Order: sequence, then C-alpha cells, then structure tokens
Amino acid sequence: MTAPTHGFDTLQIHAGARPDPATGARQTPIYQTTAYVFRDADHAAALFNLQEVGYIYSRLTNPTVAALQERMAALEGGVGAVCCSSGHAAQIMALFPLMGPGKNIVASNRLYGGTVTQFSQTIRRFGWSAKFVDIDDTEALAAAIDEDTRAVFCEAVANPGGHIADLETVARLADAQGVPLIVDNTTATPYLCRPIEHGATLVVHSMTKYLTGNGTVTGGAIIDSGKFDWSNGKFPSLSEPEPAYHGLKFHETFGPLAFTFHSIAIGLRDLGMTLNPQAAHYTMMGIETLSLRMDRHVENAVKVAQWLEKDPRVAYVTYAGLPSSPSYARMAKYCPKGASSLFTFSLKGGYEDCVKLIDSVEIFSHVANLGDTRSLIIHSASTTHRQLTEEQQIAAGAAPDVVRLSIGTEDADDLIADLDQALTRASGPR
Ligand SMILES: *Cc1c(COP(=O)(O)O)cnc(C)c1O
Repeated sequence: MTAPTHGFDTLQIHAGARPDPATGARQTPIYQTTAYVFRDADHAAALFNLQEVGYIYSRLTNPTVAALQERMAALEGGVGAVCCSSGHAAQIMALFPLMGPGKNIVASNRLYGGTVTQFSQTIRRFGWSAKFVDIDDTEALAAAIDEDTRAVFCEAVANPGGHIADLETVARLADAQGVPLIVDNTTATPYLCRPIEHGATLVVHSMTKYLTGNGTVTGGAIIDSGKFDWSNGKFPSLSEPEPAYHGLKFHETFGPLAFTFHSIAIGLRDLGMTLNPQAAHYTMMGIETLSLRMDRHVENAVKVAQWLEKDPRVAYVTYAGLPSSPSYARMAKYCPKGASSLFTFSLKGGYEDCVKLIDSVEIFSHVANLGDTRSLIIHSASTTHRQLTEEQQIAAGAAPDVVRLSIGTEDADDLIADLDQALTRASGPR
C-alpha cells in the first residue's frame, strides 16, 4: 500500500496496485472480463444501489482500470479519478455533470486544435457553448464568466505553443464566481505540474501521450480535487436529486467523491466512453517510468531548443524552458522540473520550407501524436490545427510558418544532427 506522503517515484509504481488477492500475481493482472459474479441477490442489489462499492459490468468499472484510476488520483493529488477511452472523451466526461442546454464554458484560446474544434463546434449539438479568451488578460477572463458559465478550461502547458497558464490567478477568478477550473495537464504530466496544488478543481488528461509514453493506446482520465462546493446552486446534477439515478443526491451522499461517483454511475454508464483493461495495462506500464522519461524528455528538449534558437535559418523557438520565452518566469512556479518536451519553432523560409523540412527528417517521425519516446514532428497548420481559421491558428501558436516538435528520449546529438541535415535540405546551409 502507498500513502500520499510517498514520493512521486514510489507512487508511479505502487499507487493503486497490490498483489492479486486470488493468485498473488505481483503485476496488476489484465482483468479481461465483461461481468462479475454477484455473491447473491442482496449483494447485487447493494451494488446497483451504490450502497456497496464493487464490480458489476466493465462499462462502469474493471479492476485493472480501477488500479489505474487510483494511481492517477495519487499522482495528481486528487481524491478520485475516472478513466475513459481517450483525452477527448475525458473532456466530455468532465463537462457532462456540470453542463446543460444554454450553459457555457470559458476556455483559453491556447488549446490543442482538436479541443478547439470540440468546444467551438461539436458541443453545440448538446446546447453547450464555449467562449474563448486570452487567459493572461484577467479582465477579459473575469468579464467572460457569466451566470450561465459552468467551468473555466485551460491547458497547464499549452499544446503546441508551450504557453504556461498562470493557474493560481485563473483559479482565483473562477472561484470568485463559483465556477470550477478544469485543467488539461496532458503536456506537463503530474510529474512536472500539479494543477490541484494551484487551485484546479478537475484535471483532465490524454493518457495517450506522455503517460503511456510510447504511442501504443489511447486513454483519458479526469482527476477530482474533491475541493469544490457542488451545492452552490449551479450544479443540480450533483447536488439535487438526480433523475438518472433514482433521485440520488450525489454531493450529499458522497461528499468530496460526488463528481467521481457521478462520472462512473452516470457518465460511464450512459455515455459509454469506457477504457478497456488492455489499454489500462499499457498505460500503467508507461506510468511506472514516467519520471525517468520526463527528466530525459526535458533534458533533450532544452538541448534541441537551445540549438535551434541559435540557428540562422530559424526565426524563433517557443519553448517555455528557454529564457527568451514569455512563460519562462512561470516555469519556476508551475513546472520547476521543466516545461516538458513539446514546442514549436518558426522557419524564416515560411510554409514552403516547413513542408520540405518535414519531408527531410530521418529520425523524427511525421505523425499526429506527441509524448512518445520517439521524436515526432508535425506541421500543425496543415494537420492538427487544420480545421481552425488562420486567426485561431496564430492564437493557438500554430501559424503556417511554424513546425511542432515532440522531443523523445533518444540521444540529443542525433536529434540535432537530423534537424541540421533536414534544415539544410529545406532552407540551405547555415
Ligand atoms: C491529444 C490531446 C488531447 C486529446 O486526447 P486524445 O487522447 O487524442 O483524445 C487533448 N488535449 C491535449 C493537450 C492533447 O495533446
């Protein structure tokens, strides 16, 4: 068993995992099962009434997934966590208990492109809407939160521009208006940044990225701080009798675990965005080495970013780990161990040279992913941020002359040599 006082390196290996009670298996087994035998009819009734916690059906809960949930809660310093099938599923699952037709979220304009599309287009089908603001503009942020706002949403370290949010200020503004702050911590991971310690209510993850760490499976998680007052009048699904669960009052019944229980009992039950136990297993394998990998990701990213910044073919590099970055000062407070390994750089030769560069790299892989042990490259404007207007692309840090890198854990010298030869083929010699 682990305690919250254990260090991160201990928790990433042990939290949520215990020897299998039936066999003693040391590694968490992949419980490849859909259903679980009830002891008797009374046991089944108690489980369905949420009077007893246990396993019913794997759309809701599964022991392998439960171990991962406990580990994610421990790593982020939350009271509970719910895992689901992808990062995008986690965002919908996080908003689901809070929202209703006519309600809105206030979101940072520096977000992963897929999230911008999900929030600006797709959630409208549910009658929800999003207002995008520059979260560094505190007046604009405060003014955007209105009586129908049910959450403020930002990324701790934004994909792809590397902007670090001033979480404490954003949390204070959200709190002043009785609204939870949801922080996407995908890029930083809980090893580099712990948003709950800076006031976040909920933390969401695409576990697809650094947490699994090797590009094998998709997964998402929502971690609850357990600190928000869901009974402030704005969140009837959590505080009033919930018709979708025979009138249960989640906040009154489960206290700080209200959000977590609601997300499993109603969110997973009715939306069905379930993480499968195989994917949970791969993700836990990745998390065991998270801190070791993140240290190397950061070390390599600093070396590559410093080298690129001095290269005459490069217009600028946006990496929060460089003193030239406007986010550099925030790194000491929010990500003292480093600013992850995702950043962008701009080529003086513009769009044409960016495309040539991507076609010339040999070690870097041209893929729409990040947070892999392999180094990855992509031209965001023509891919992940393609659905956005040019104005949105520029705000998100994905302008047409910008290339995004996710630096892996290979030898930094090899990565630099690969970029050098590709830059020569794209823009000519230094
Ligand atoms: C990839 C990503 C997502 C979406 O996650 P999926 O697992 O691909 O659904 C959300 N936020 C950020 C910051 C991401 O990088």
